[in-house]
Amino acid sequence: MARYTDSVCQQCRREGIKLYLKGSRCESPKCAIERRDAPPGMHNRRGKQSEYGVRLREKQKLKRFYGVLERQFRRYFALASRSTENTGEVLLSILERRLDNVIHRIGFAPSRASARQLVGHGHVLVNGKHCNVASILLKAGDTVAIKSRPGSVQLVKLNQQSHPQPIPDFLEIVGAEPPEGRLTRLPTRQDVDPRLTKEKELHENLIIEFCSR
Ligand code: SF4
Repeated sequence: MARYTDSVCQQCRREGIKLYLKGSRCESPKCAIERRDAPPGMHNRRGKQSEYGVRLREKQKLKRFYGVLERQFRRYFALASRSTENTGEVLLSILERRLDNVIHRIGFAPSRASARQLVGHGHVLVNGKHCNVASILLKAGDTVAIKSRPGSVQLVKLNQQSHPQPIPDFLEIVGAEPPEGRLTRLPTRQDVDPRLTKEKELHENLIIEFCSR
């Protein structure tokens, strides 16, 4: 499995917005973009962008926010473009339905990266069955639970206490001991993580134009 191994804060500095990739550090004064809001590297001035550049940055922003690599992002785009509904909205819905995103947004993990680690280390059950693939797409009615082992439950409870966050409408908590949540319906454009659009509006039409070239 391919992995991004460079400093993730560089991604925020490149996109010029906070992508919230490091959990609690992102809310602290230690956040790299708050200390140095410039693209990484020696030639670090933000000049005027070409039309191509604007579209590329929009696509990279979305991909990096959800922690998805290029090949998988292209697969999601292909899936979204086969749909009869609005491609941009379907693409966002797919990204929101990823298991790592659901675990993060329901509050079991402070970031998507840490949610991926929870899944990879075997702490998670999907519909009552062991699951170690963080990229699976959940459907309406699917449940996500933490294994009833003291270590797993304690870890997630600690995450819930130290990173309390509002739970989006398409998710609900259905159990506390062990923590369990459920996807009540498929997410829509309105359910997209508000932190993605907090600093800059997201223009998914530009992403579709970029990927359809
Ligand atoms: Fe790093 Fe988080 Fe700040 Fe981004 S938002 S620069 S990941 S600390």
